[in-house]
Amino acid sequence: MINVSGLSKRYGTHLAVKDVNFNIEKGEVIGFLGPNGAGKSTIMNILTGYLSMTQGKVEIDGFDIVEFPEQAKRRIGYLPEIPPLYTDMKVREYLNFIYDLKKVKFPKKPHIDEVLRLVGIDNVANRLIKNLSKGYRQRVGFAQALIGNPDVLILDEPTVGLDPKQIIEIRNLIGRLGKNHTIILSSHILSEIQAVCKRVIIINRGEIIADDTAENLAHRLSDNKTLLARIVCNEEDMLATLKTVKGVKSVTSLGQMESGSYDFVIEPMDGNDIRADIFDRVVSRGKKLLALNDNRLSLEQVFLRLTDMDTKEAKELLGSETVAETNTEEEEEV
Ligand code: ADP
Ligand code: MG
Repeated sequence: MINVSGLSKRYGTHLAVKDVNFNIEKGEVIGFLGPNGAGKSTIMNILTGYLSMTQGKVEIDGFDIVEFPEQAKRRIGYLPEIPPLYTDMKVREYLNFIYDLKKVKFPKKPHIDEVLRLVGIDNVANRLIKNLSKGYRQRVGFAQALIGNPDVLILDEPTVGLDPKQIIEIRNLIGRLGKNHTIILSSHILSEIQAVCKRVIIINRGEIIADDTAENLAHRLSDNKTLLARIVCNEEDMLATLKTVKGVKSVTSLGQMESGSYDFVIEPMDGNDIRADIFDRVVSRGKKLLALNDNRLSLEQVFLRLTDMDTKEAKELLGSETVAETNTEEEEEV
């Protein structure tokens, strides 16, 4: 549905987007995750045809955004970082205006009624936008993106500035819309992306440093051989006990957790699956095993780790499979 290859954007001498490549299939809900200034908005602005690219190619449903801007843009609904609302208009009046602007072909009234219902603002259709809460205003922003029923929705930081209740509402809305649309959503907040997106593209300093499912990313980056066990026990005794389990290489205590329990990081010898033996030993000592997990990093930790490194380091750590190859001859000018 969306094909991006060799995309670069230069602002003056600053190379804000560097040889970005990705493809998005119809129906996917993808998160652009990256710290402020990473280049998320720039990429989104280029995808929607609002900003020109310095180099590269963008196709929306097979239509090149430069060669066939009208066809490409008709397929995209865009919610920019700052929604373009005319706050002196009433909600319905504004959506009528957007309908005309987009030259939509469906019958006007039923289409606008449908969009109002879909985003849950039919009850404020006749209110002035300036009198609405921030959460409702954001929904009006969603509504303008949905006018014309585009296949693709591009949502730039859609929950920024909302309170927790409003964030949940918007998240649910995105979940609903994801059933019938291809969605790209950006955020610098991980939990947001994790809540609604299967696939995550991590962007840092204008480059894609990872493109995978959240699950895989956490897996790849963690030392997935070690286990984390939470056990109700005496710390010293259990340390000694665990060290004698067959196949165990090392045990480290992380100290006391919930009342009376301790967390232990257990490293197996190469190729040993020690989980069953750990369980048996703990039980045979009459102790309670509250949890036994892969000692994986959370996506939060992955994200912090990746965006903290320079790009080369991050790519090395991830291996080439998850990472867009850089074969650009261009280097950032300093
Ligand atoms: P994000 O959305 O991830 O926060 P942006 O795409 O807004 O990042 O910005 C990426 C980089 O490009 C930043 O370093 C920013 O300062 C720079 N930038 C963005 N817009 C412009 C502009 N119009 N002119 C010059 N530099 C810009
Ligand atoms: Mg931005």
